[in-house]
Amino acid sequence: MRAALMQRGKIWVDEVATPQPGPGEVLVKTLACGICGSDLHAAQHTEEFVETSREAGGAFKLTTFAPVVLGHEFSAEIVDFGPDTQHTLKPGTVVCSVPVLSRQPGLPIGYSDEVHGGFAEYFLLSERLLLPVPQGTAADAAALTEPMAVGLHAVRKAGLSGHEAVLVLGCGPVGLAVITALKAIGIAPIVAADFSTGRRGFAELQGADSTVDPKIADPFDHADLRKPENVVIFECVGVPGMLDQVYLGAPQNARIVVVGVCLQMDHARPLIAVNKELNVQYVLGYSLKEFKETLEFITEGTFSVQTLITGRIGLDDVATAFDALRTPEHHGKIVVQPSA
Ligand SMILES: [Zn+2]
Repeated sequence: MRAALMQRGKIWVDEVATPQPGPGEVLVKTLACGICGSDLHAAQHTEEFVETSREAGGAFKLTTFAPVVLGHEFSAEIVDFGPDTQHTLKPGTVVCSVPVLSRQPGLPIGYSDEVHGGFAEYFLLSERLLLPVPQGTAADAAALTEPMAVGLHAVRKAGLSGHEAVLVLGCGPVGLAVITALKAIGIAPIVAADFSTGRRGFAELQGADSTVDPKIADPFDHADLRKPENVVIFECVGVPGMLDQVYLGAPQNARIVVVGVCLQMDHARPLIAVNKELNVQYVLGYSLKEFKETLEFITEGTFSVQTLITGRIGLDDVATAFDALRTPEHHGKIVVQPSA
């Protein structure tokens, strides 16, 4: 079968062996697989990504310099069953799953050199983690379950009462997922900030009430955020220095939810946060329940995701797409369709 491989930033398409499902596993055919910001980071800064993953541990990690087939935001079709499987779902059923293969230890699908991710014609999933995608739901929309679940989780962790004013910093895929989830539970006002005009446009489509270009105006100074007791800031950028800027800009007693993943050493001045008694919550990923709920929200239209998909490509265009996404002005999500 064909697969897009990545090693130290180089991406190429090659013939690889079609995987054989082990006990409790199914072979699936990839229908759609989104390119994630973490994939770009893994390719552009492999050294750093691997070093940090090895030190930090956790779920979404690339700990190898060997070639990997990336891709952890997928929908796929059941093709074949391994031993010790229940066959509850029929071949041909469209499914989603959290990107983990339940072996001992569990393998991160899309960041492992032992199993392939979704940028391949076929890959393996654990039968017990399969979630059937209801008929009528587009496969590429279902592939967005994973990134949208990150937004749902971040918003749940924030424990909002509904009386908050919210600022979302960064309107990349993570920020857009957060805005989508905020909108779905009726939070308003939502102020969103990003340097990119294109991304601010996506933020408005997903439900931001107003957007700010930080080059032109200070997002923290927005009229909607002048309720000092009730401001919640979602940091969705994840670059060094960002947290310090948030400390500086945040009003007294603000809550900060850190969703953006900064992989480098960062510096922030605690005294600023101390003086303002800021409340900082780091979040990661989602629960199995949140993942399942996200698929339901996409299916029933509570989360609108179709406007986020701005590109559908084959395996041969993966390398070009990784380049294009370095300057993401025109793109929400690019989805790879290996068999299309
Ligand atoms: Zn991702």
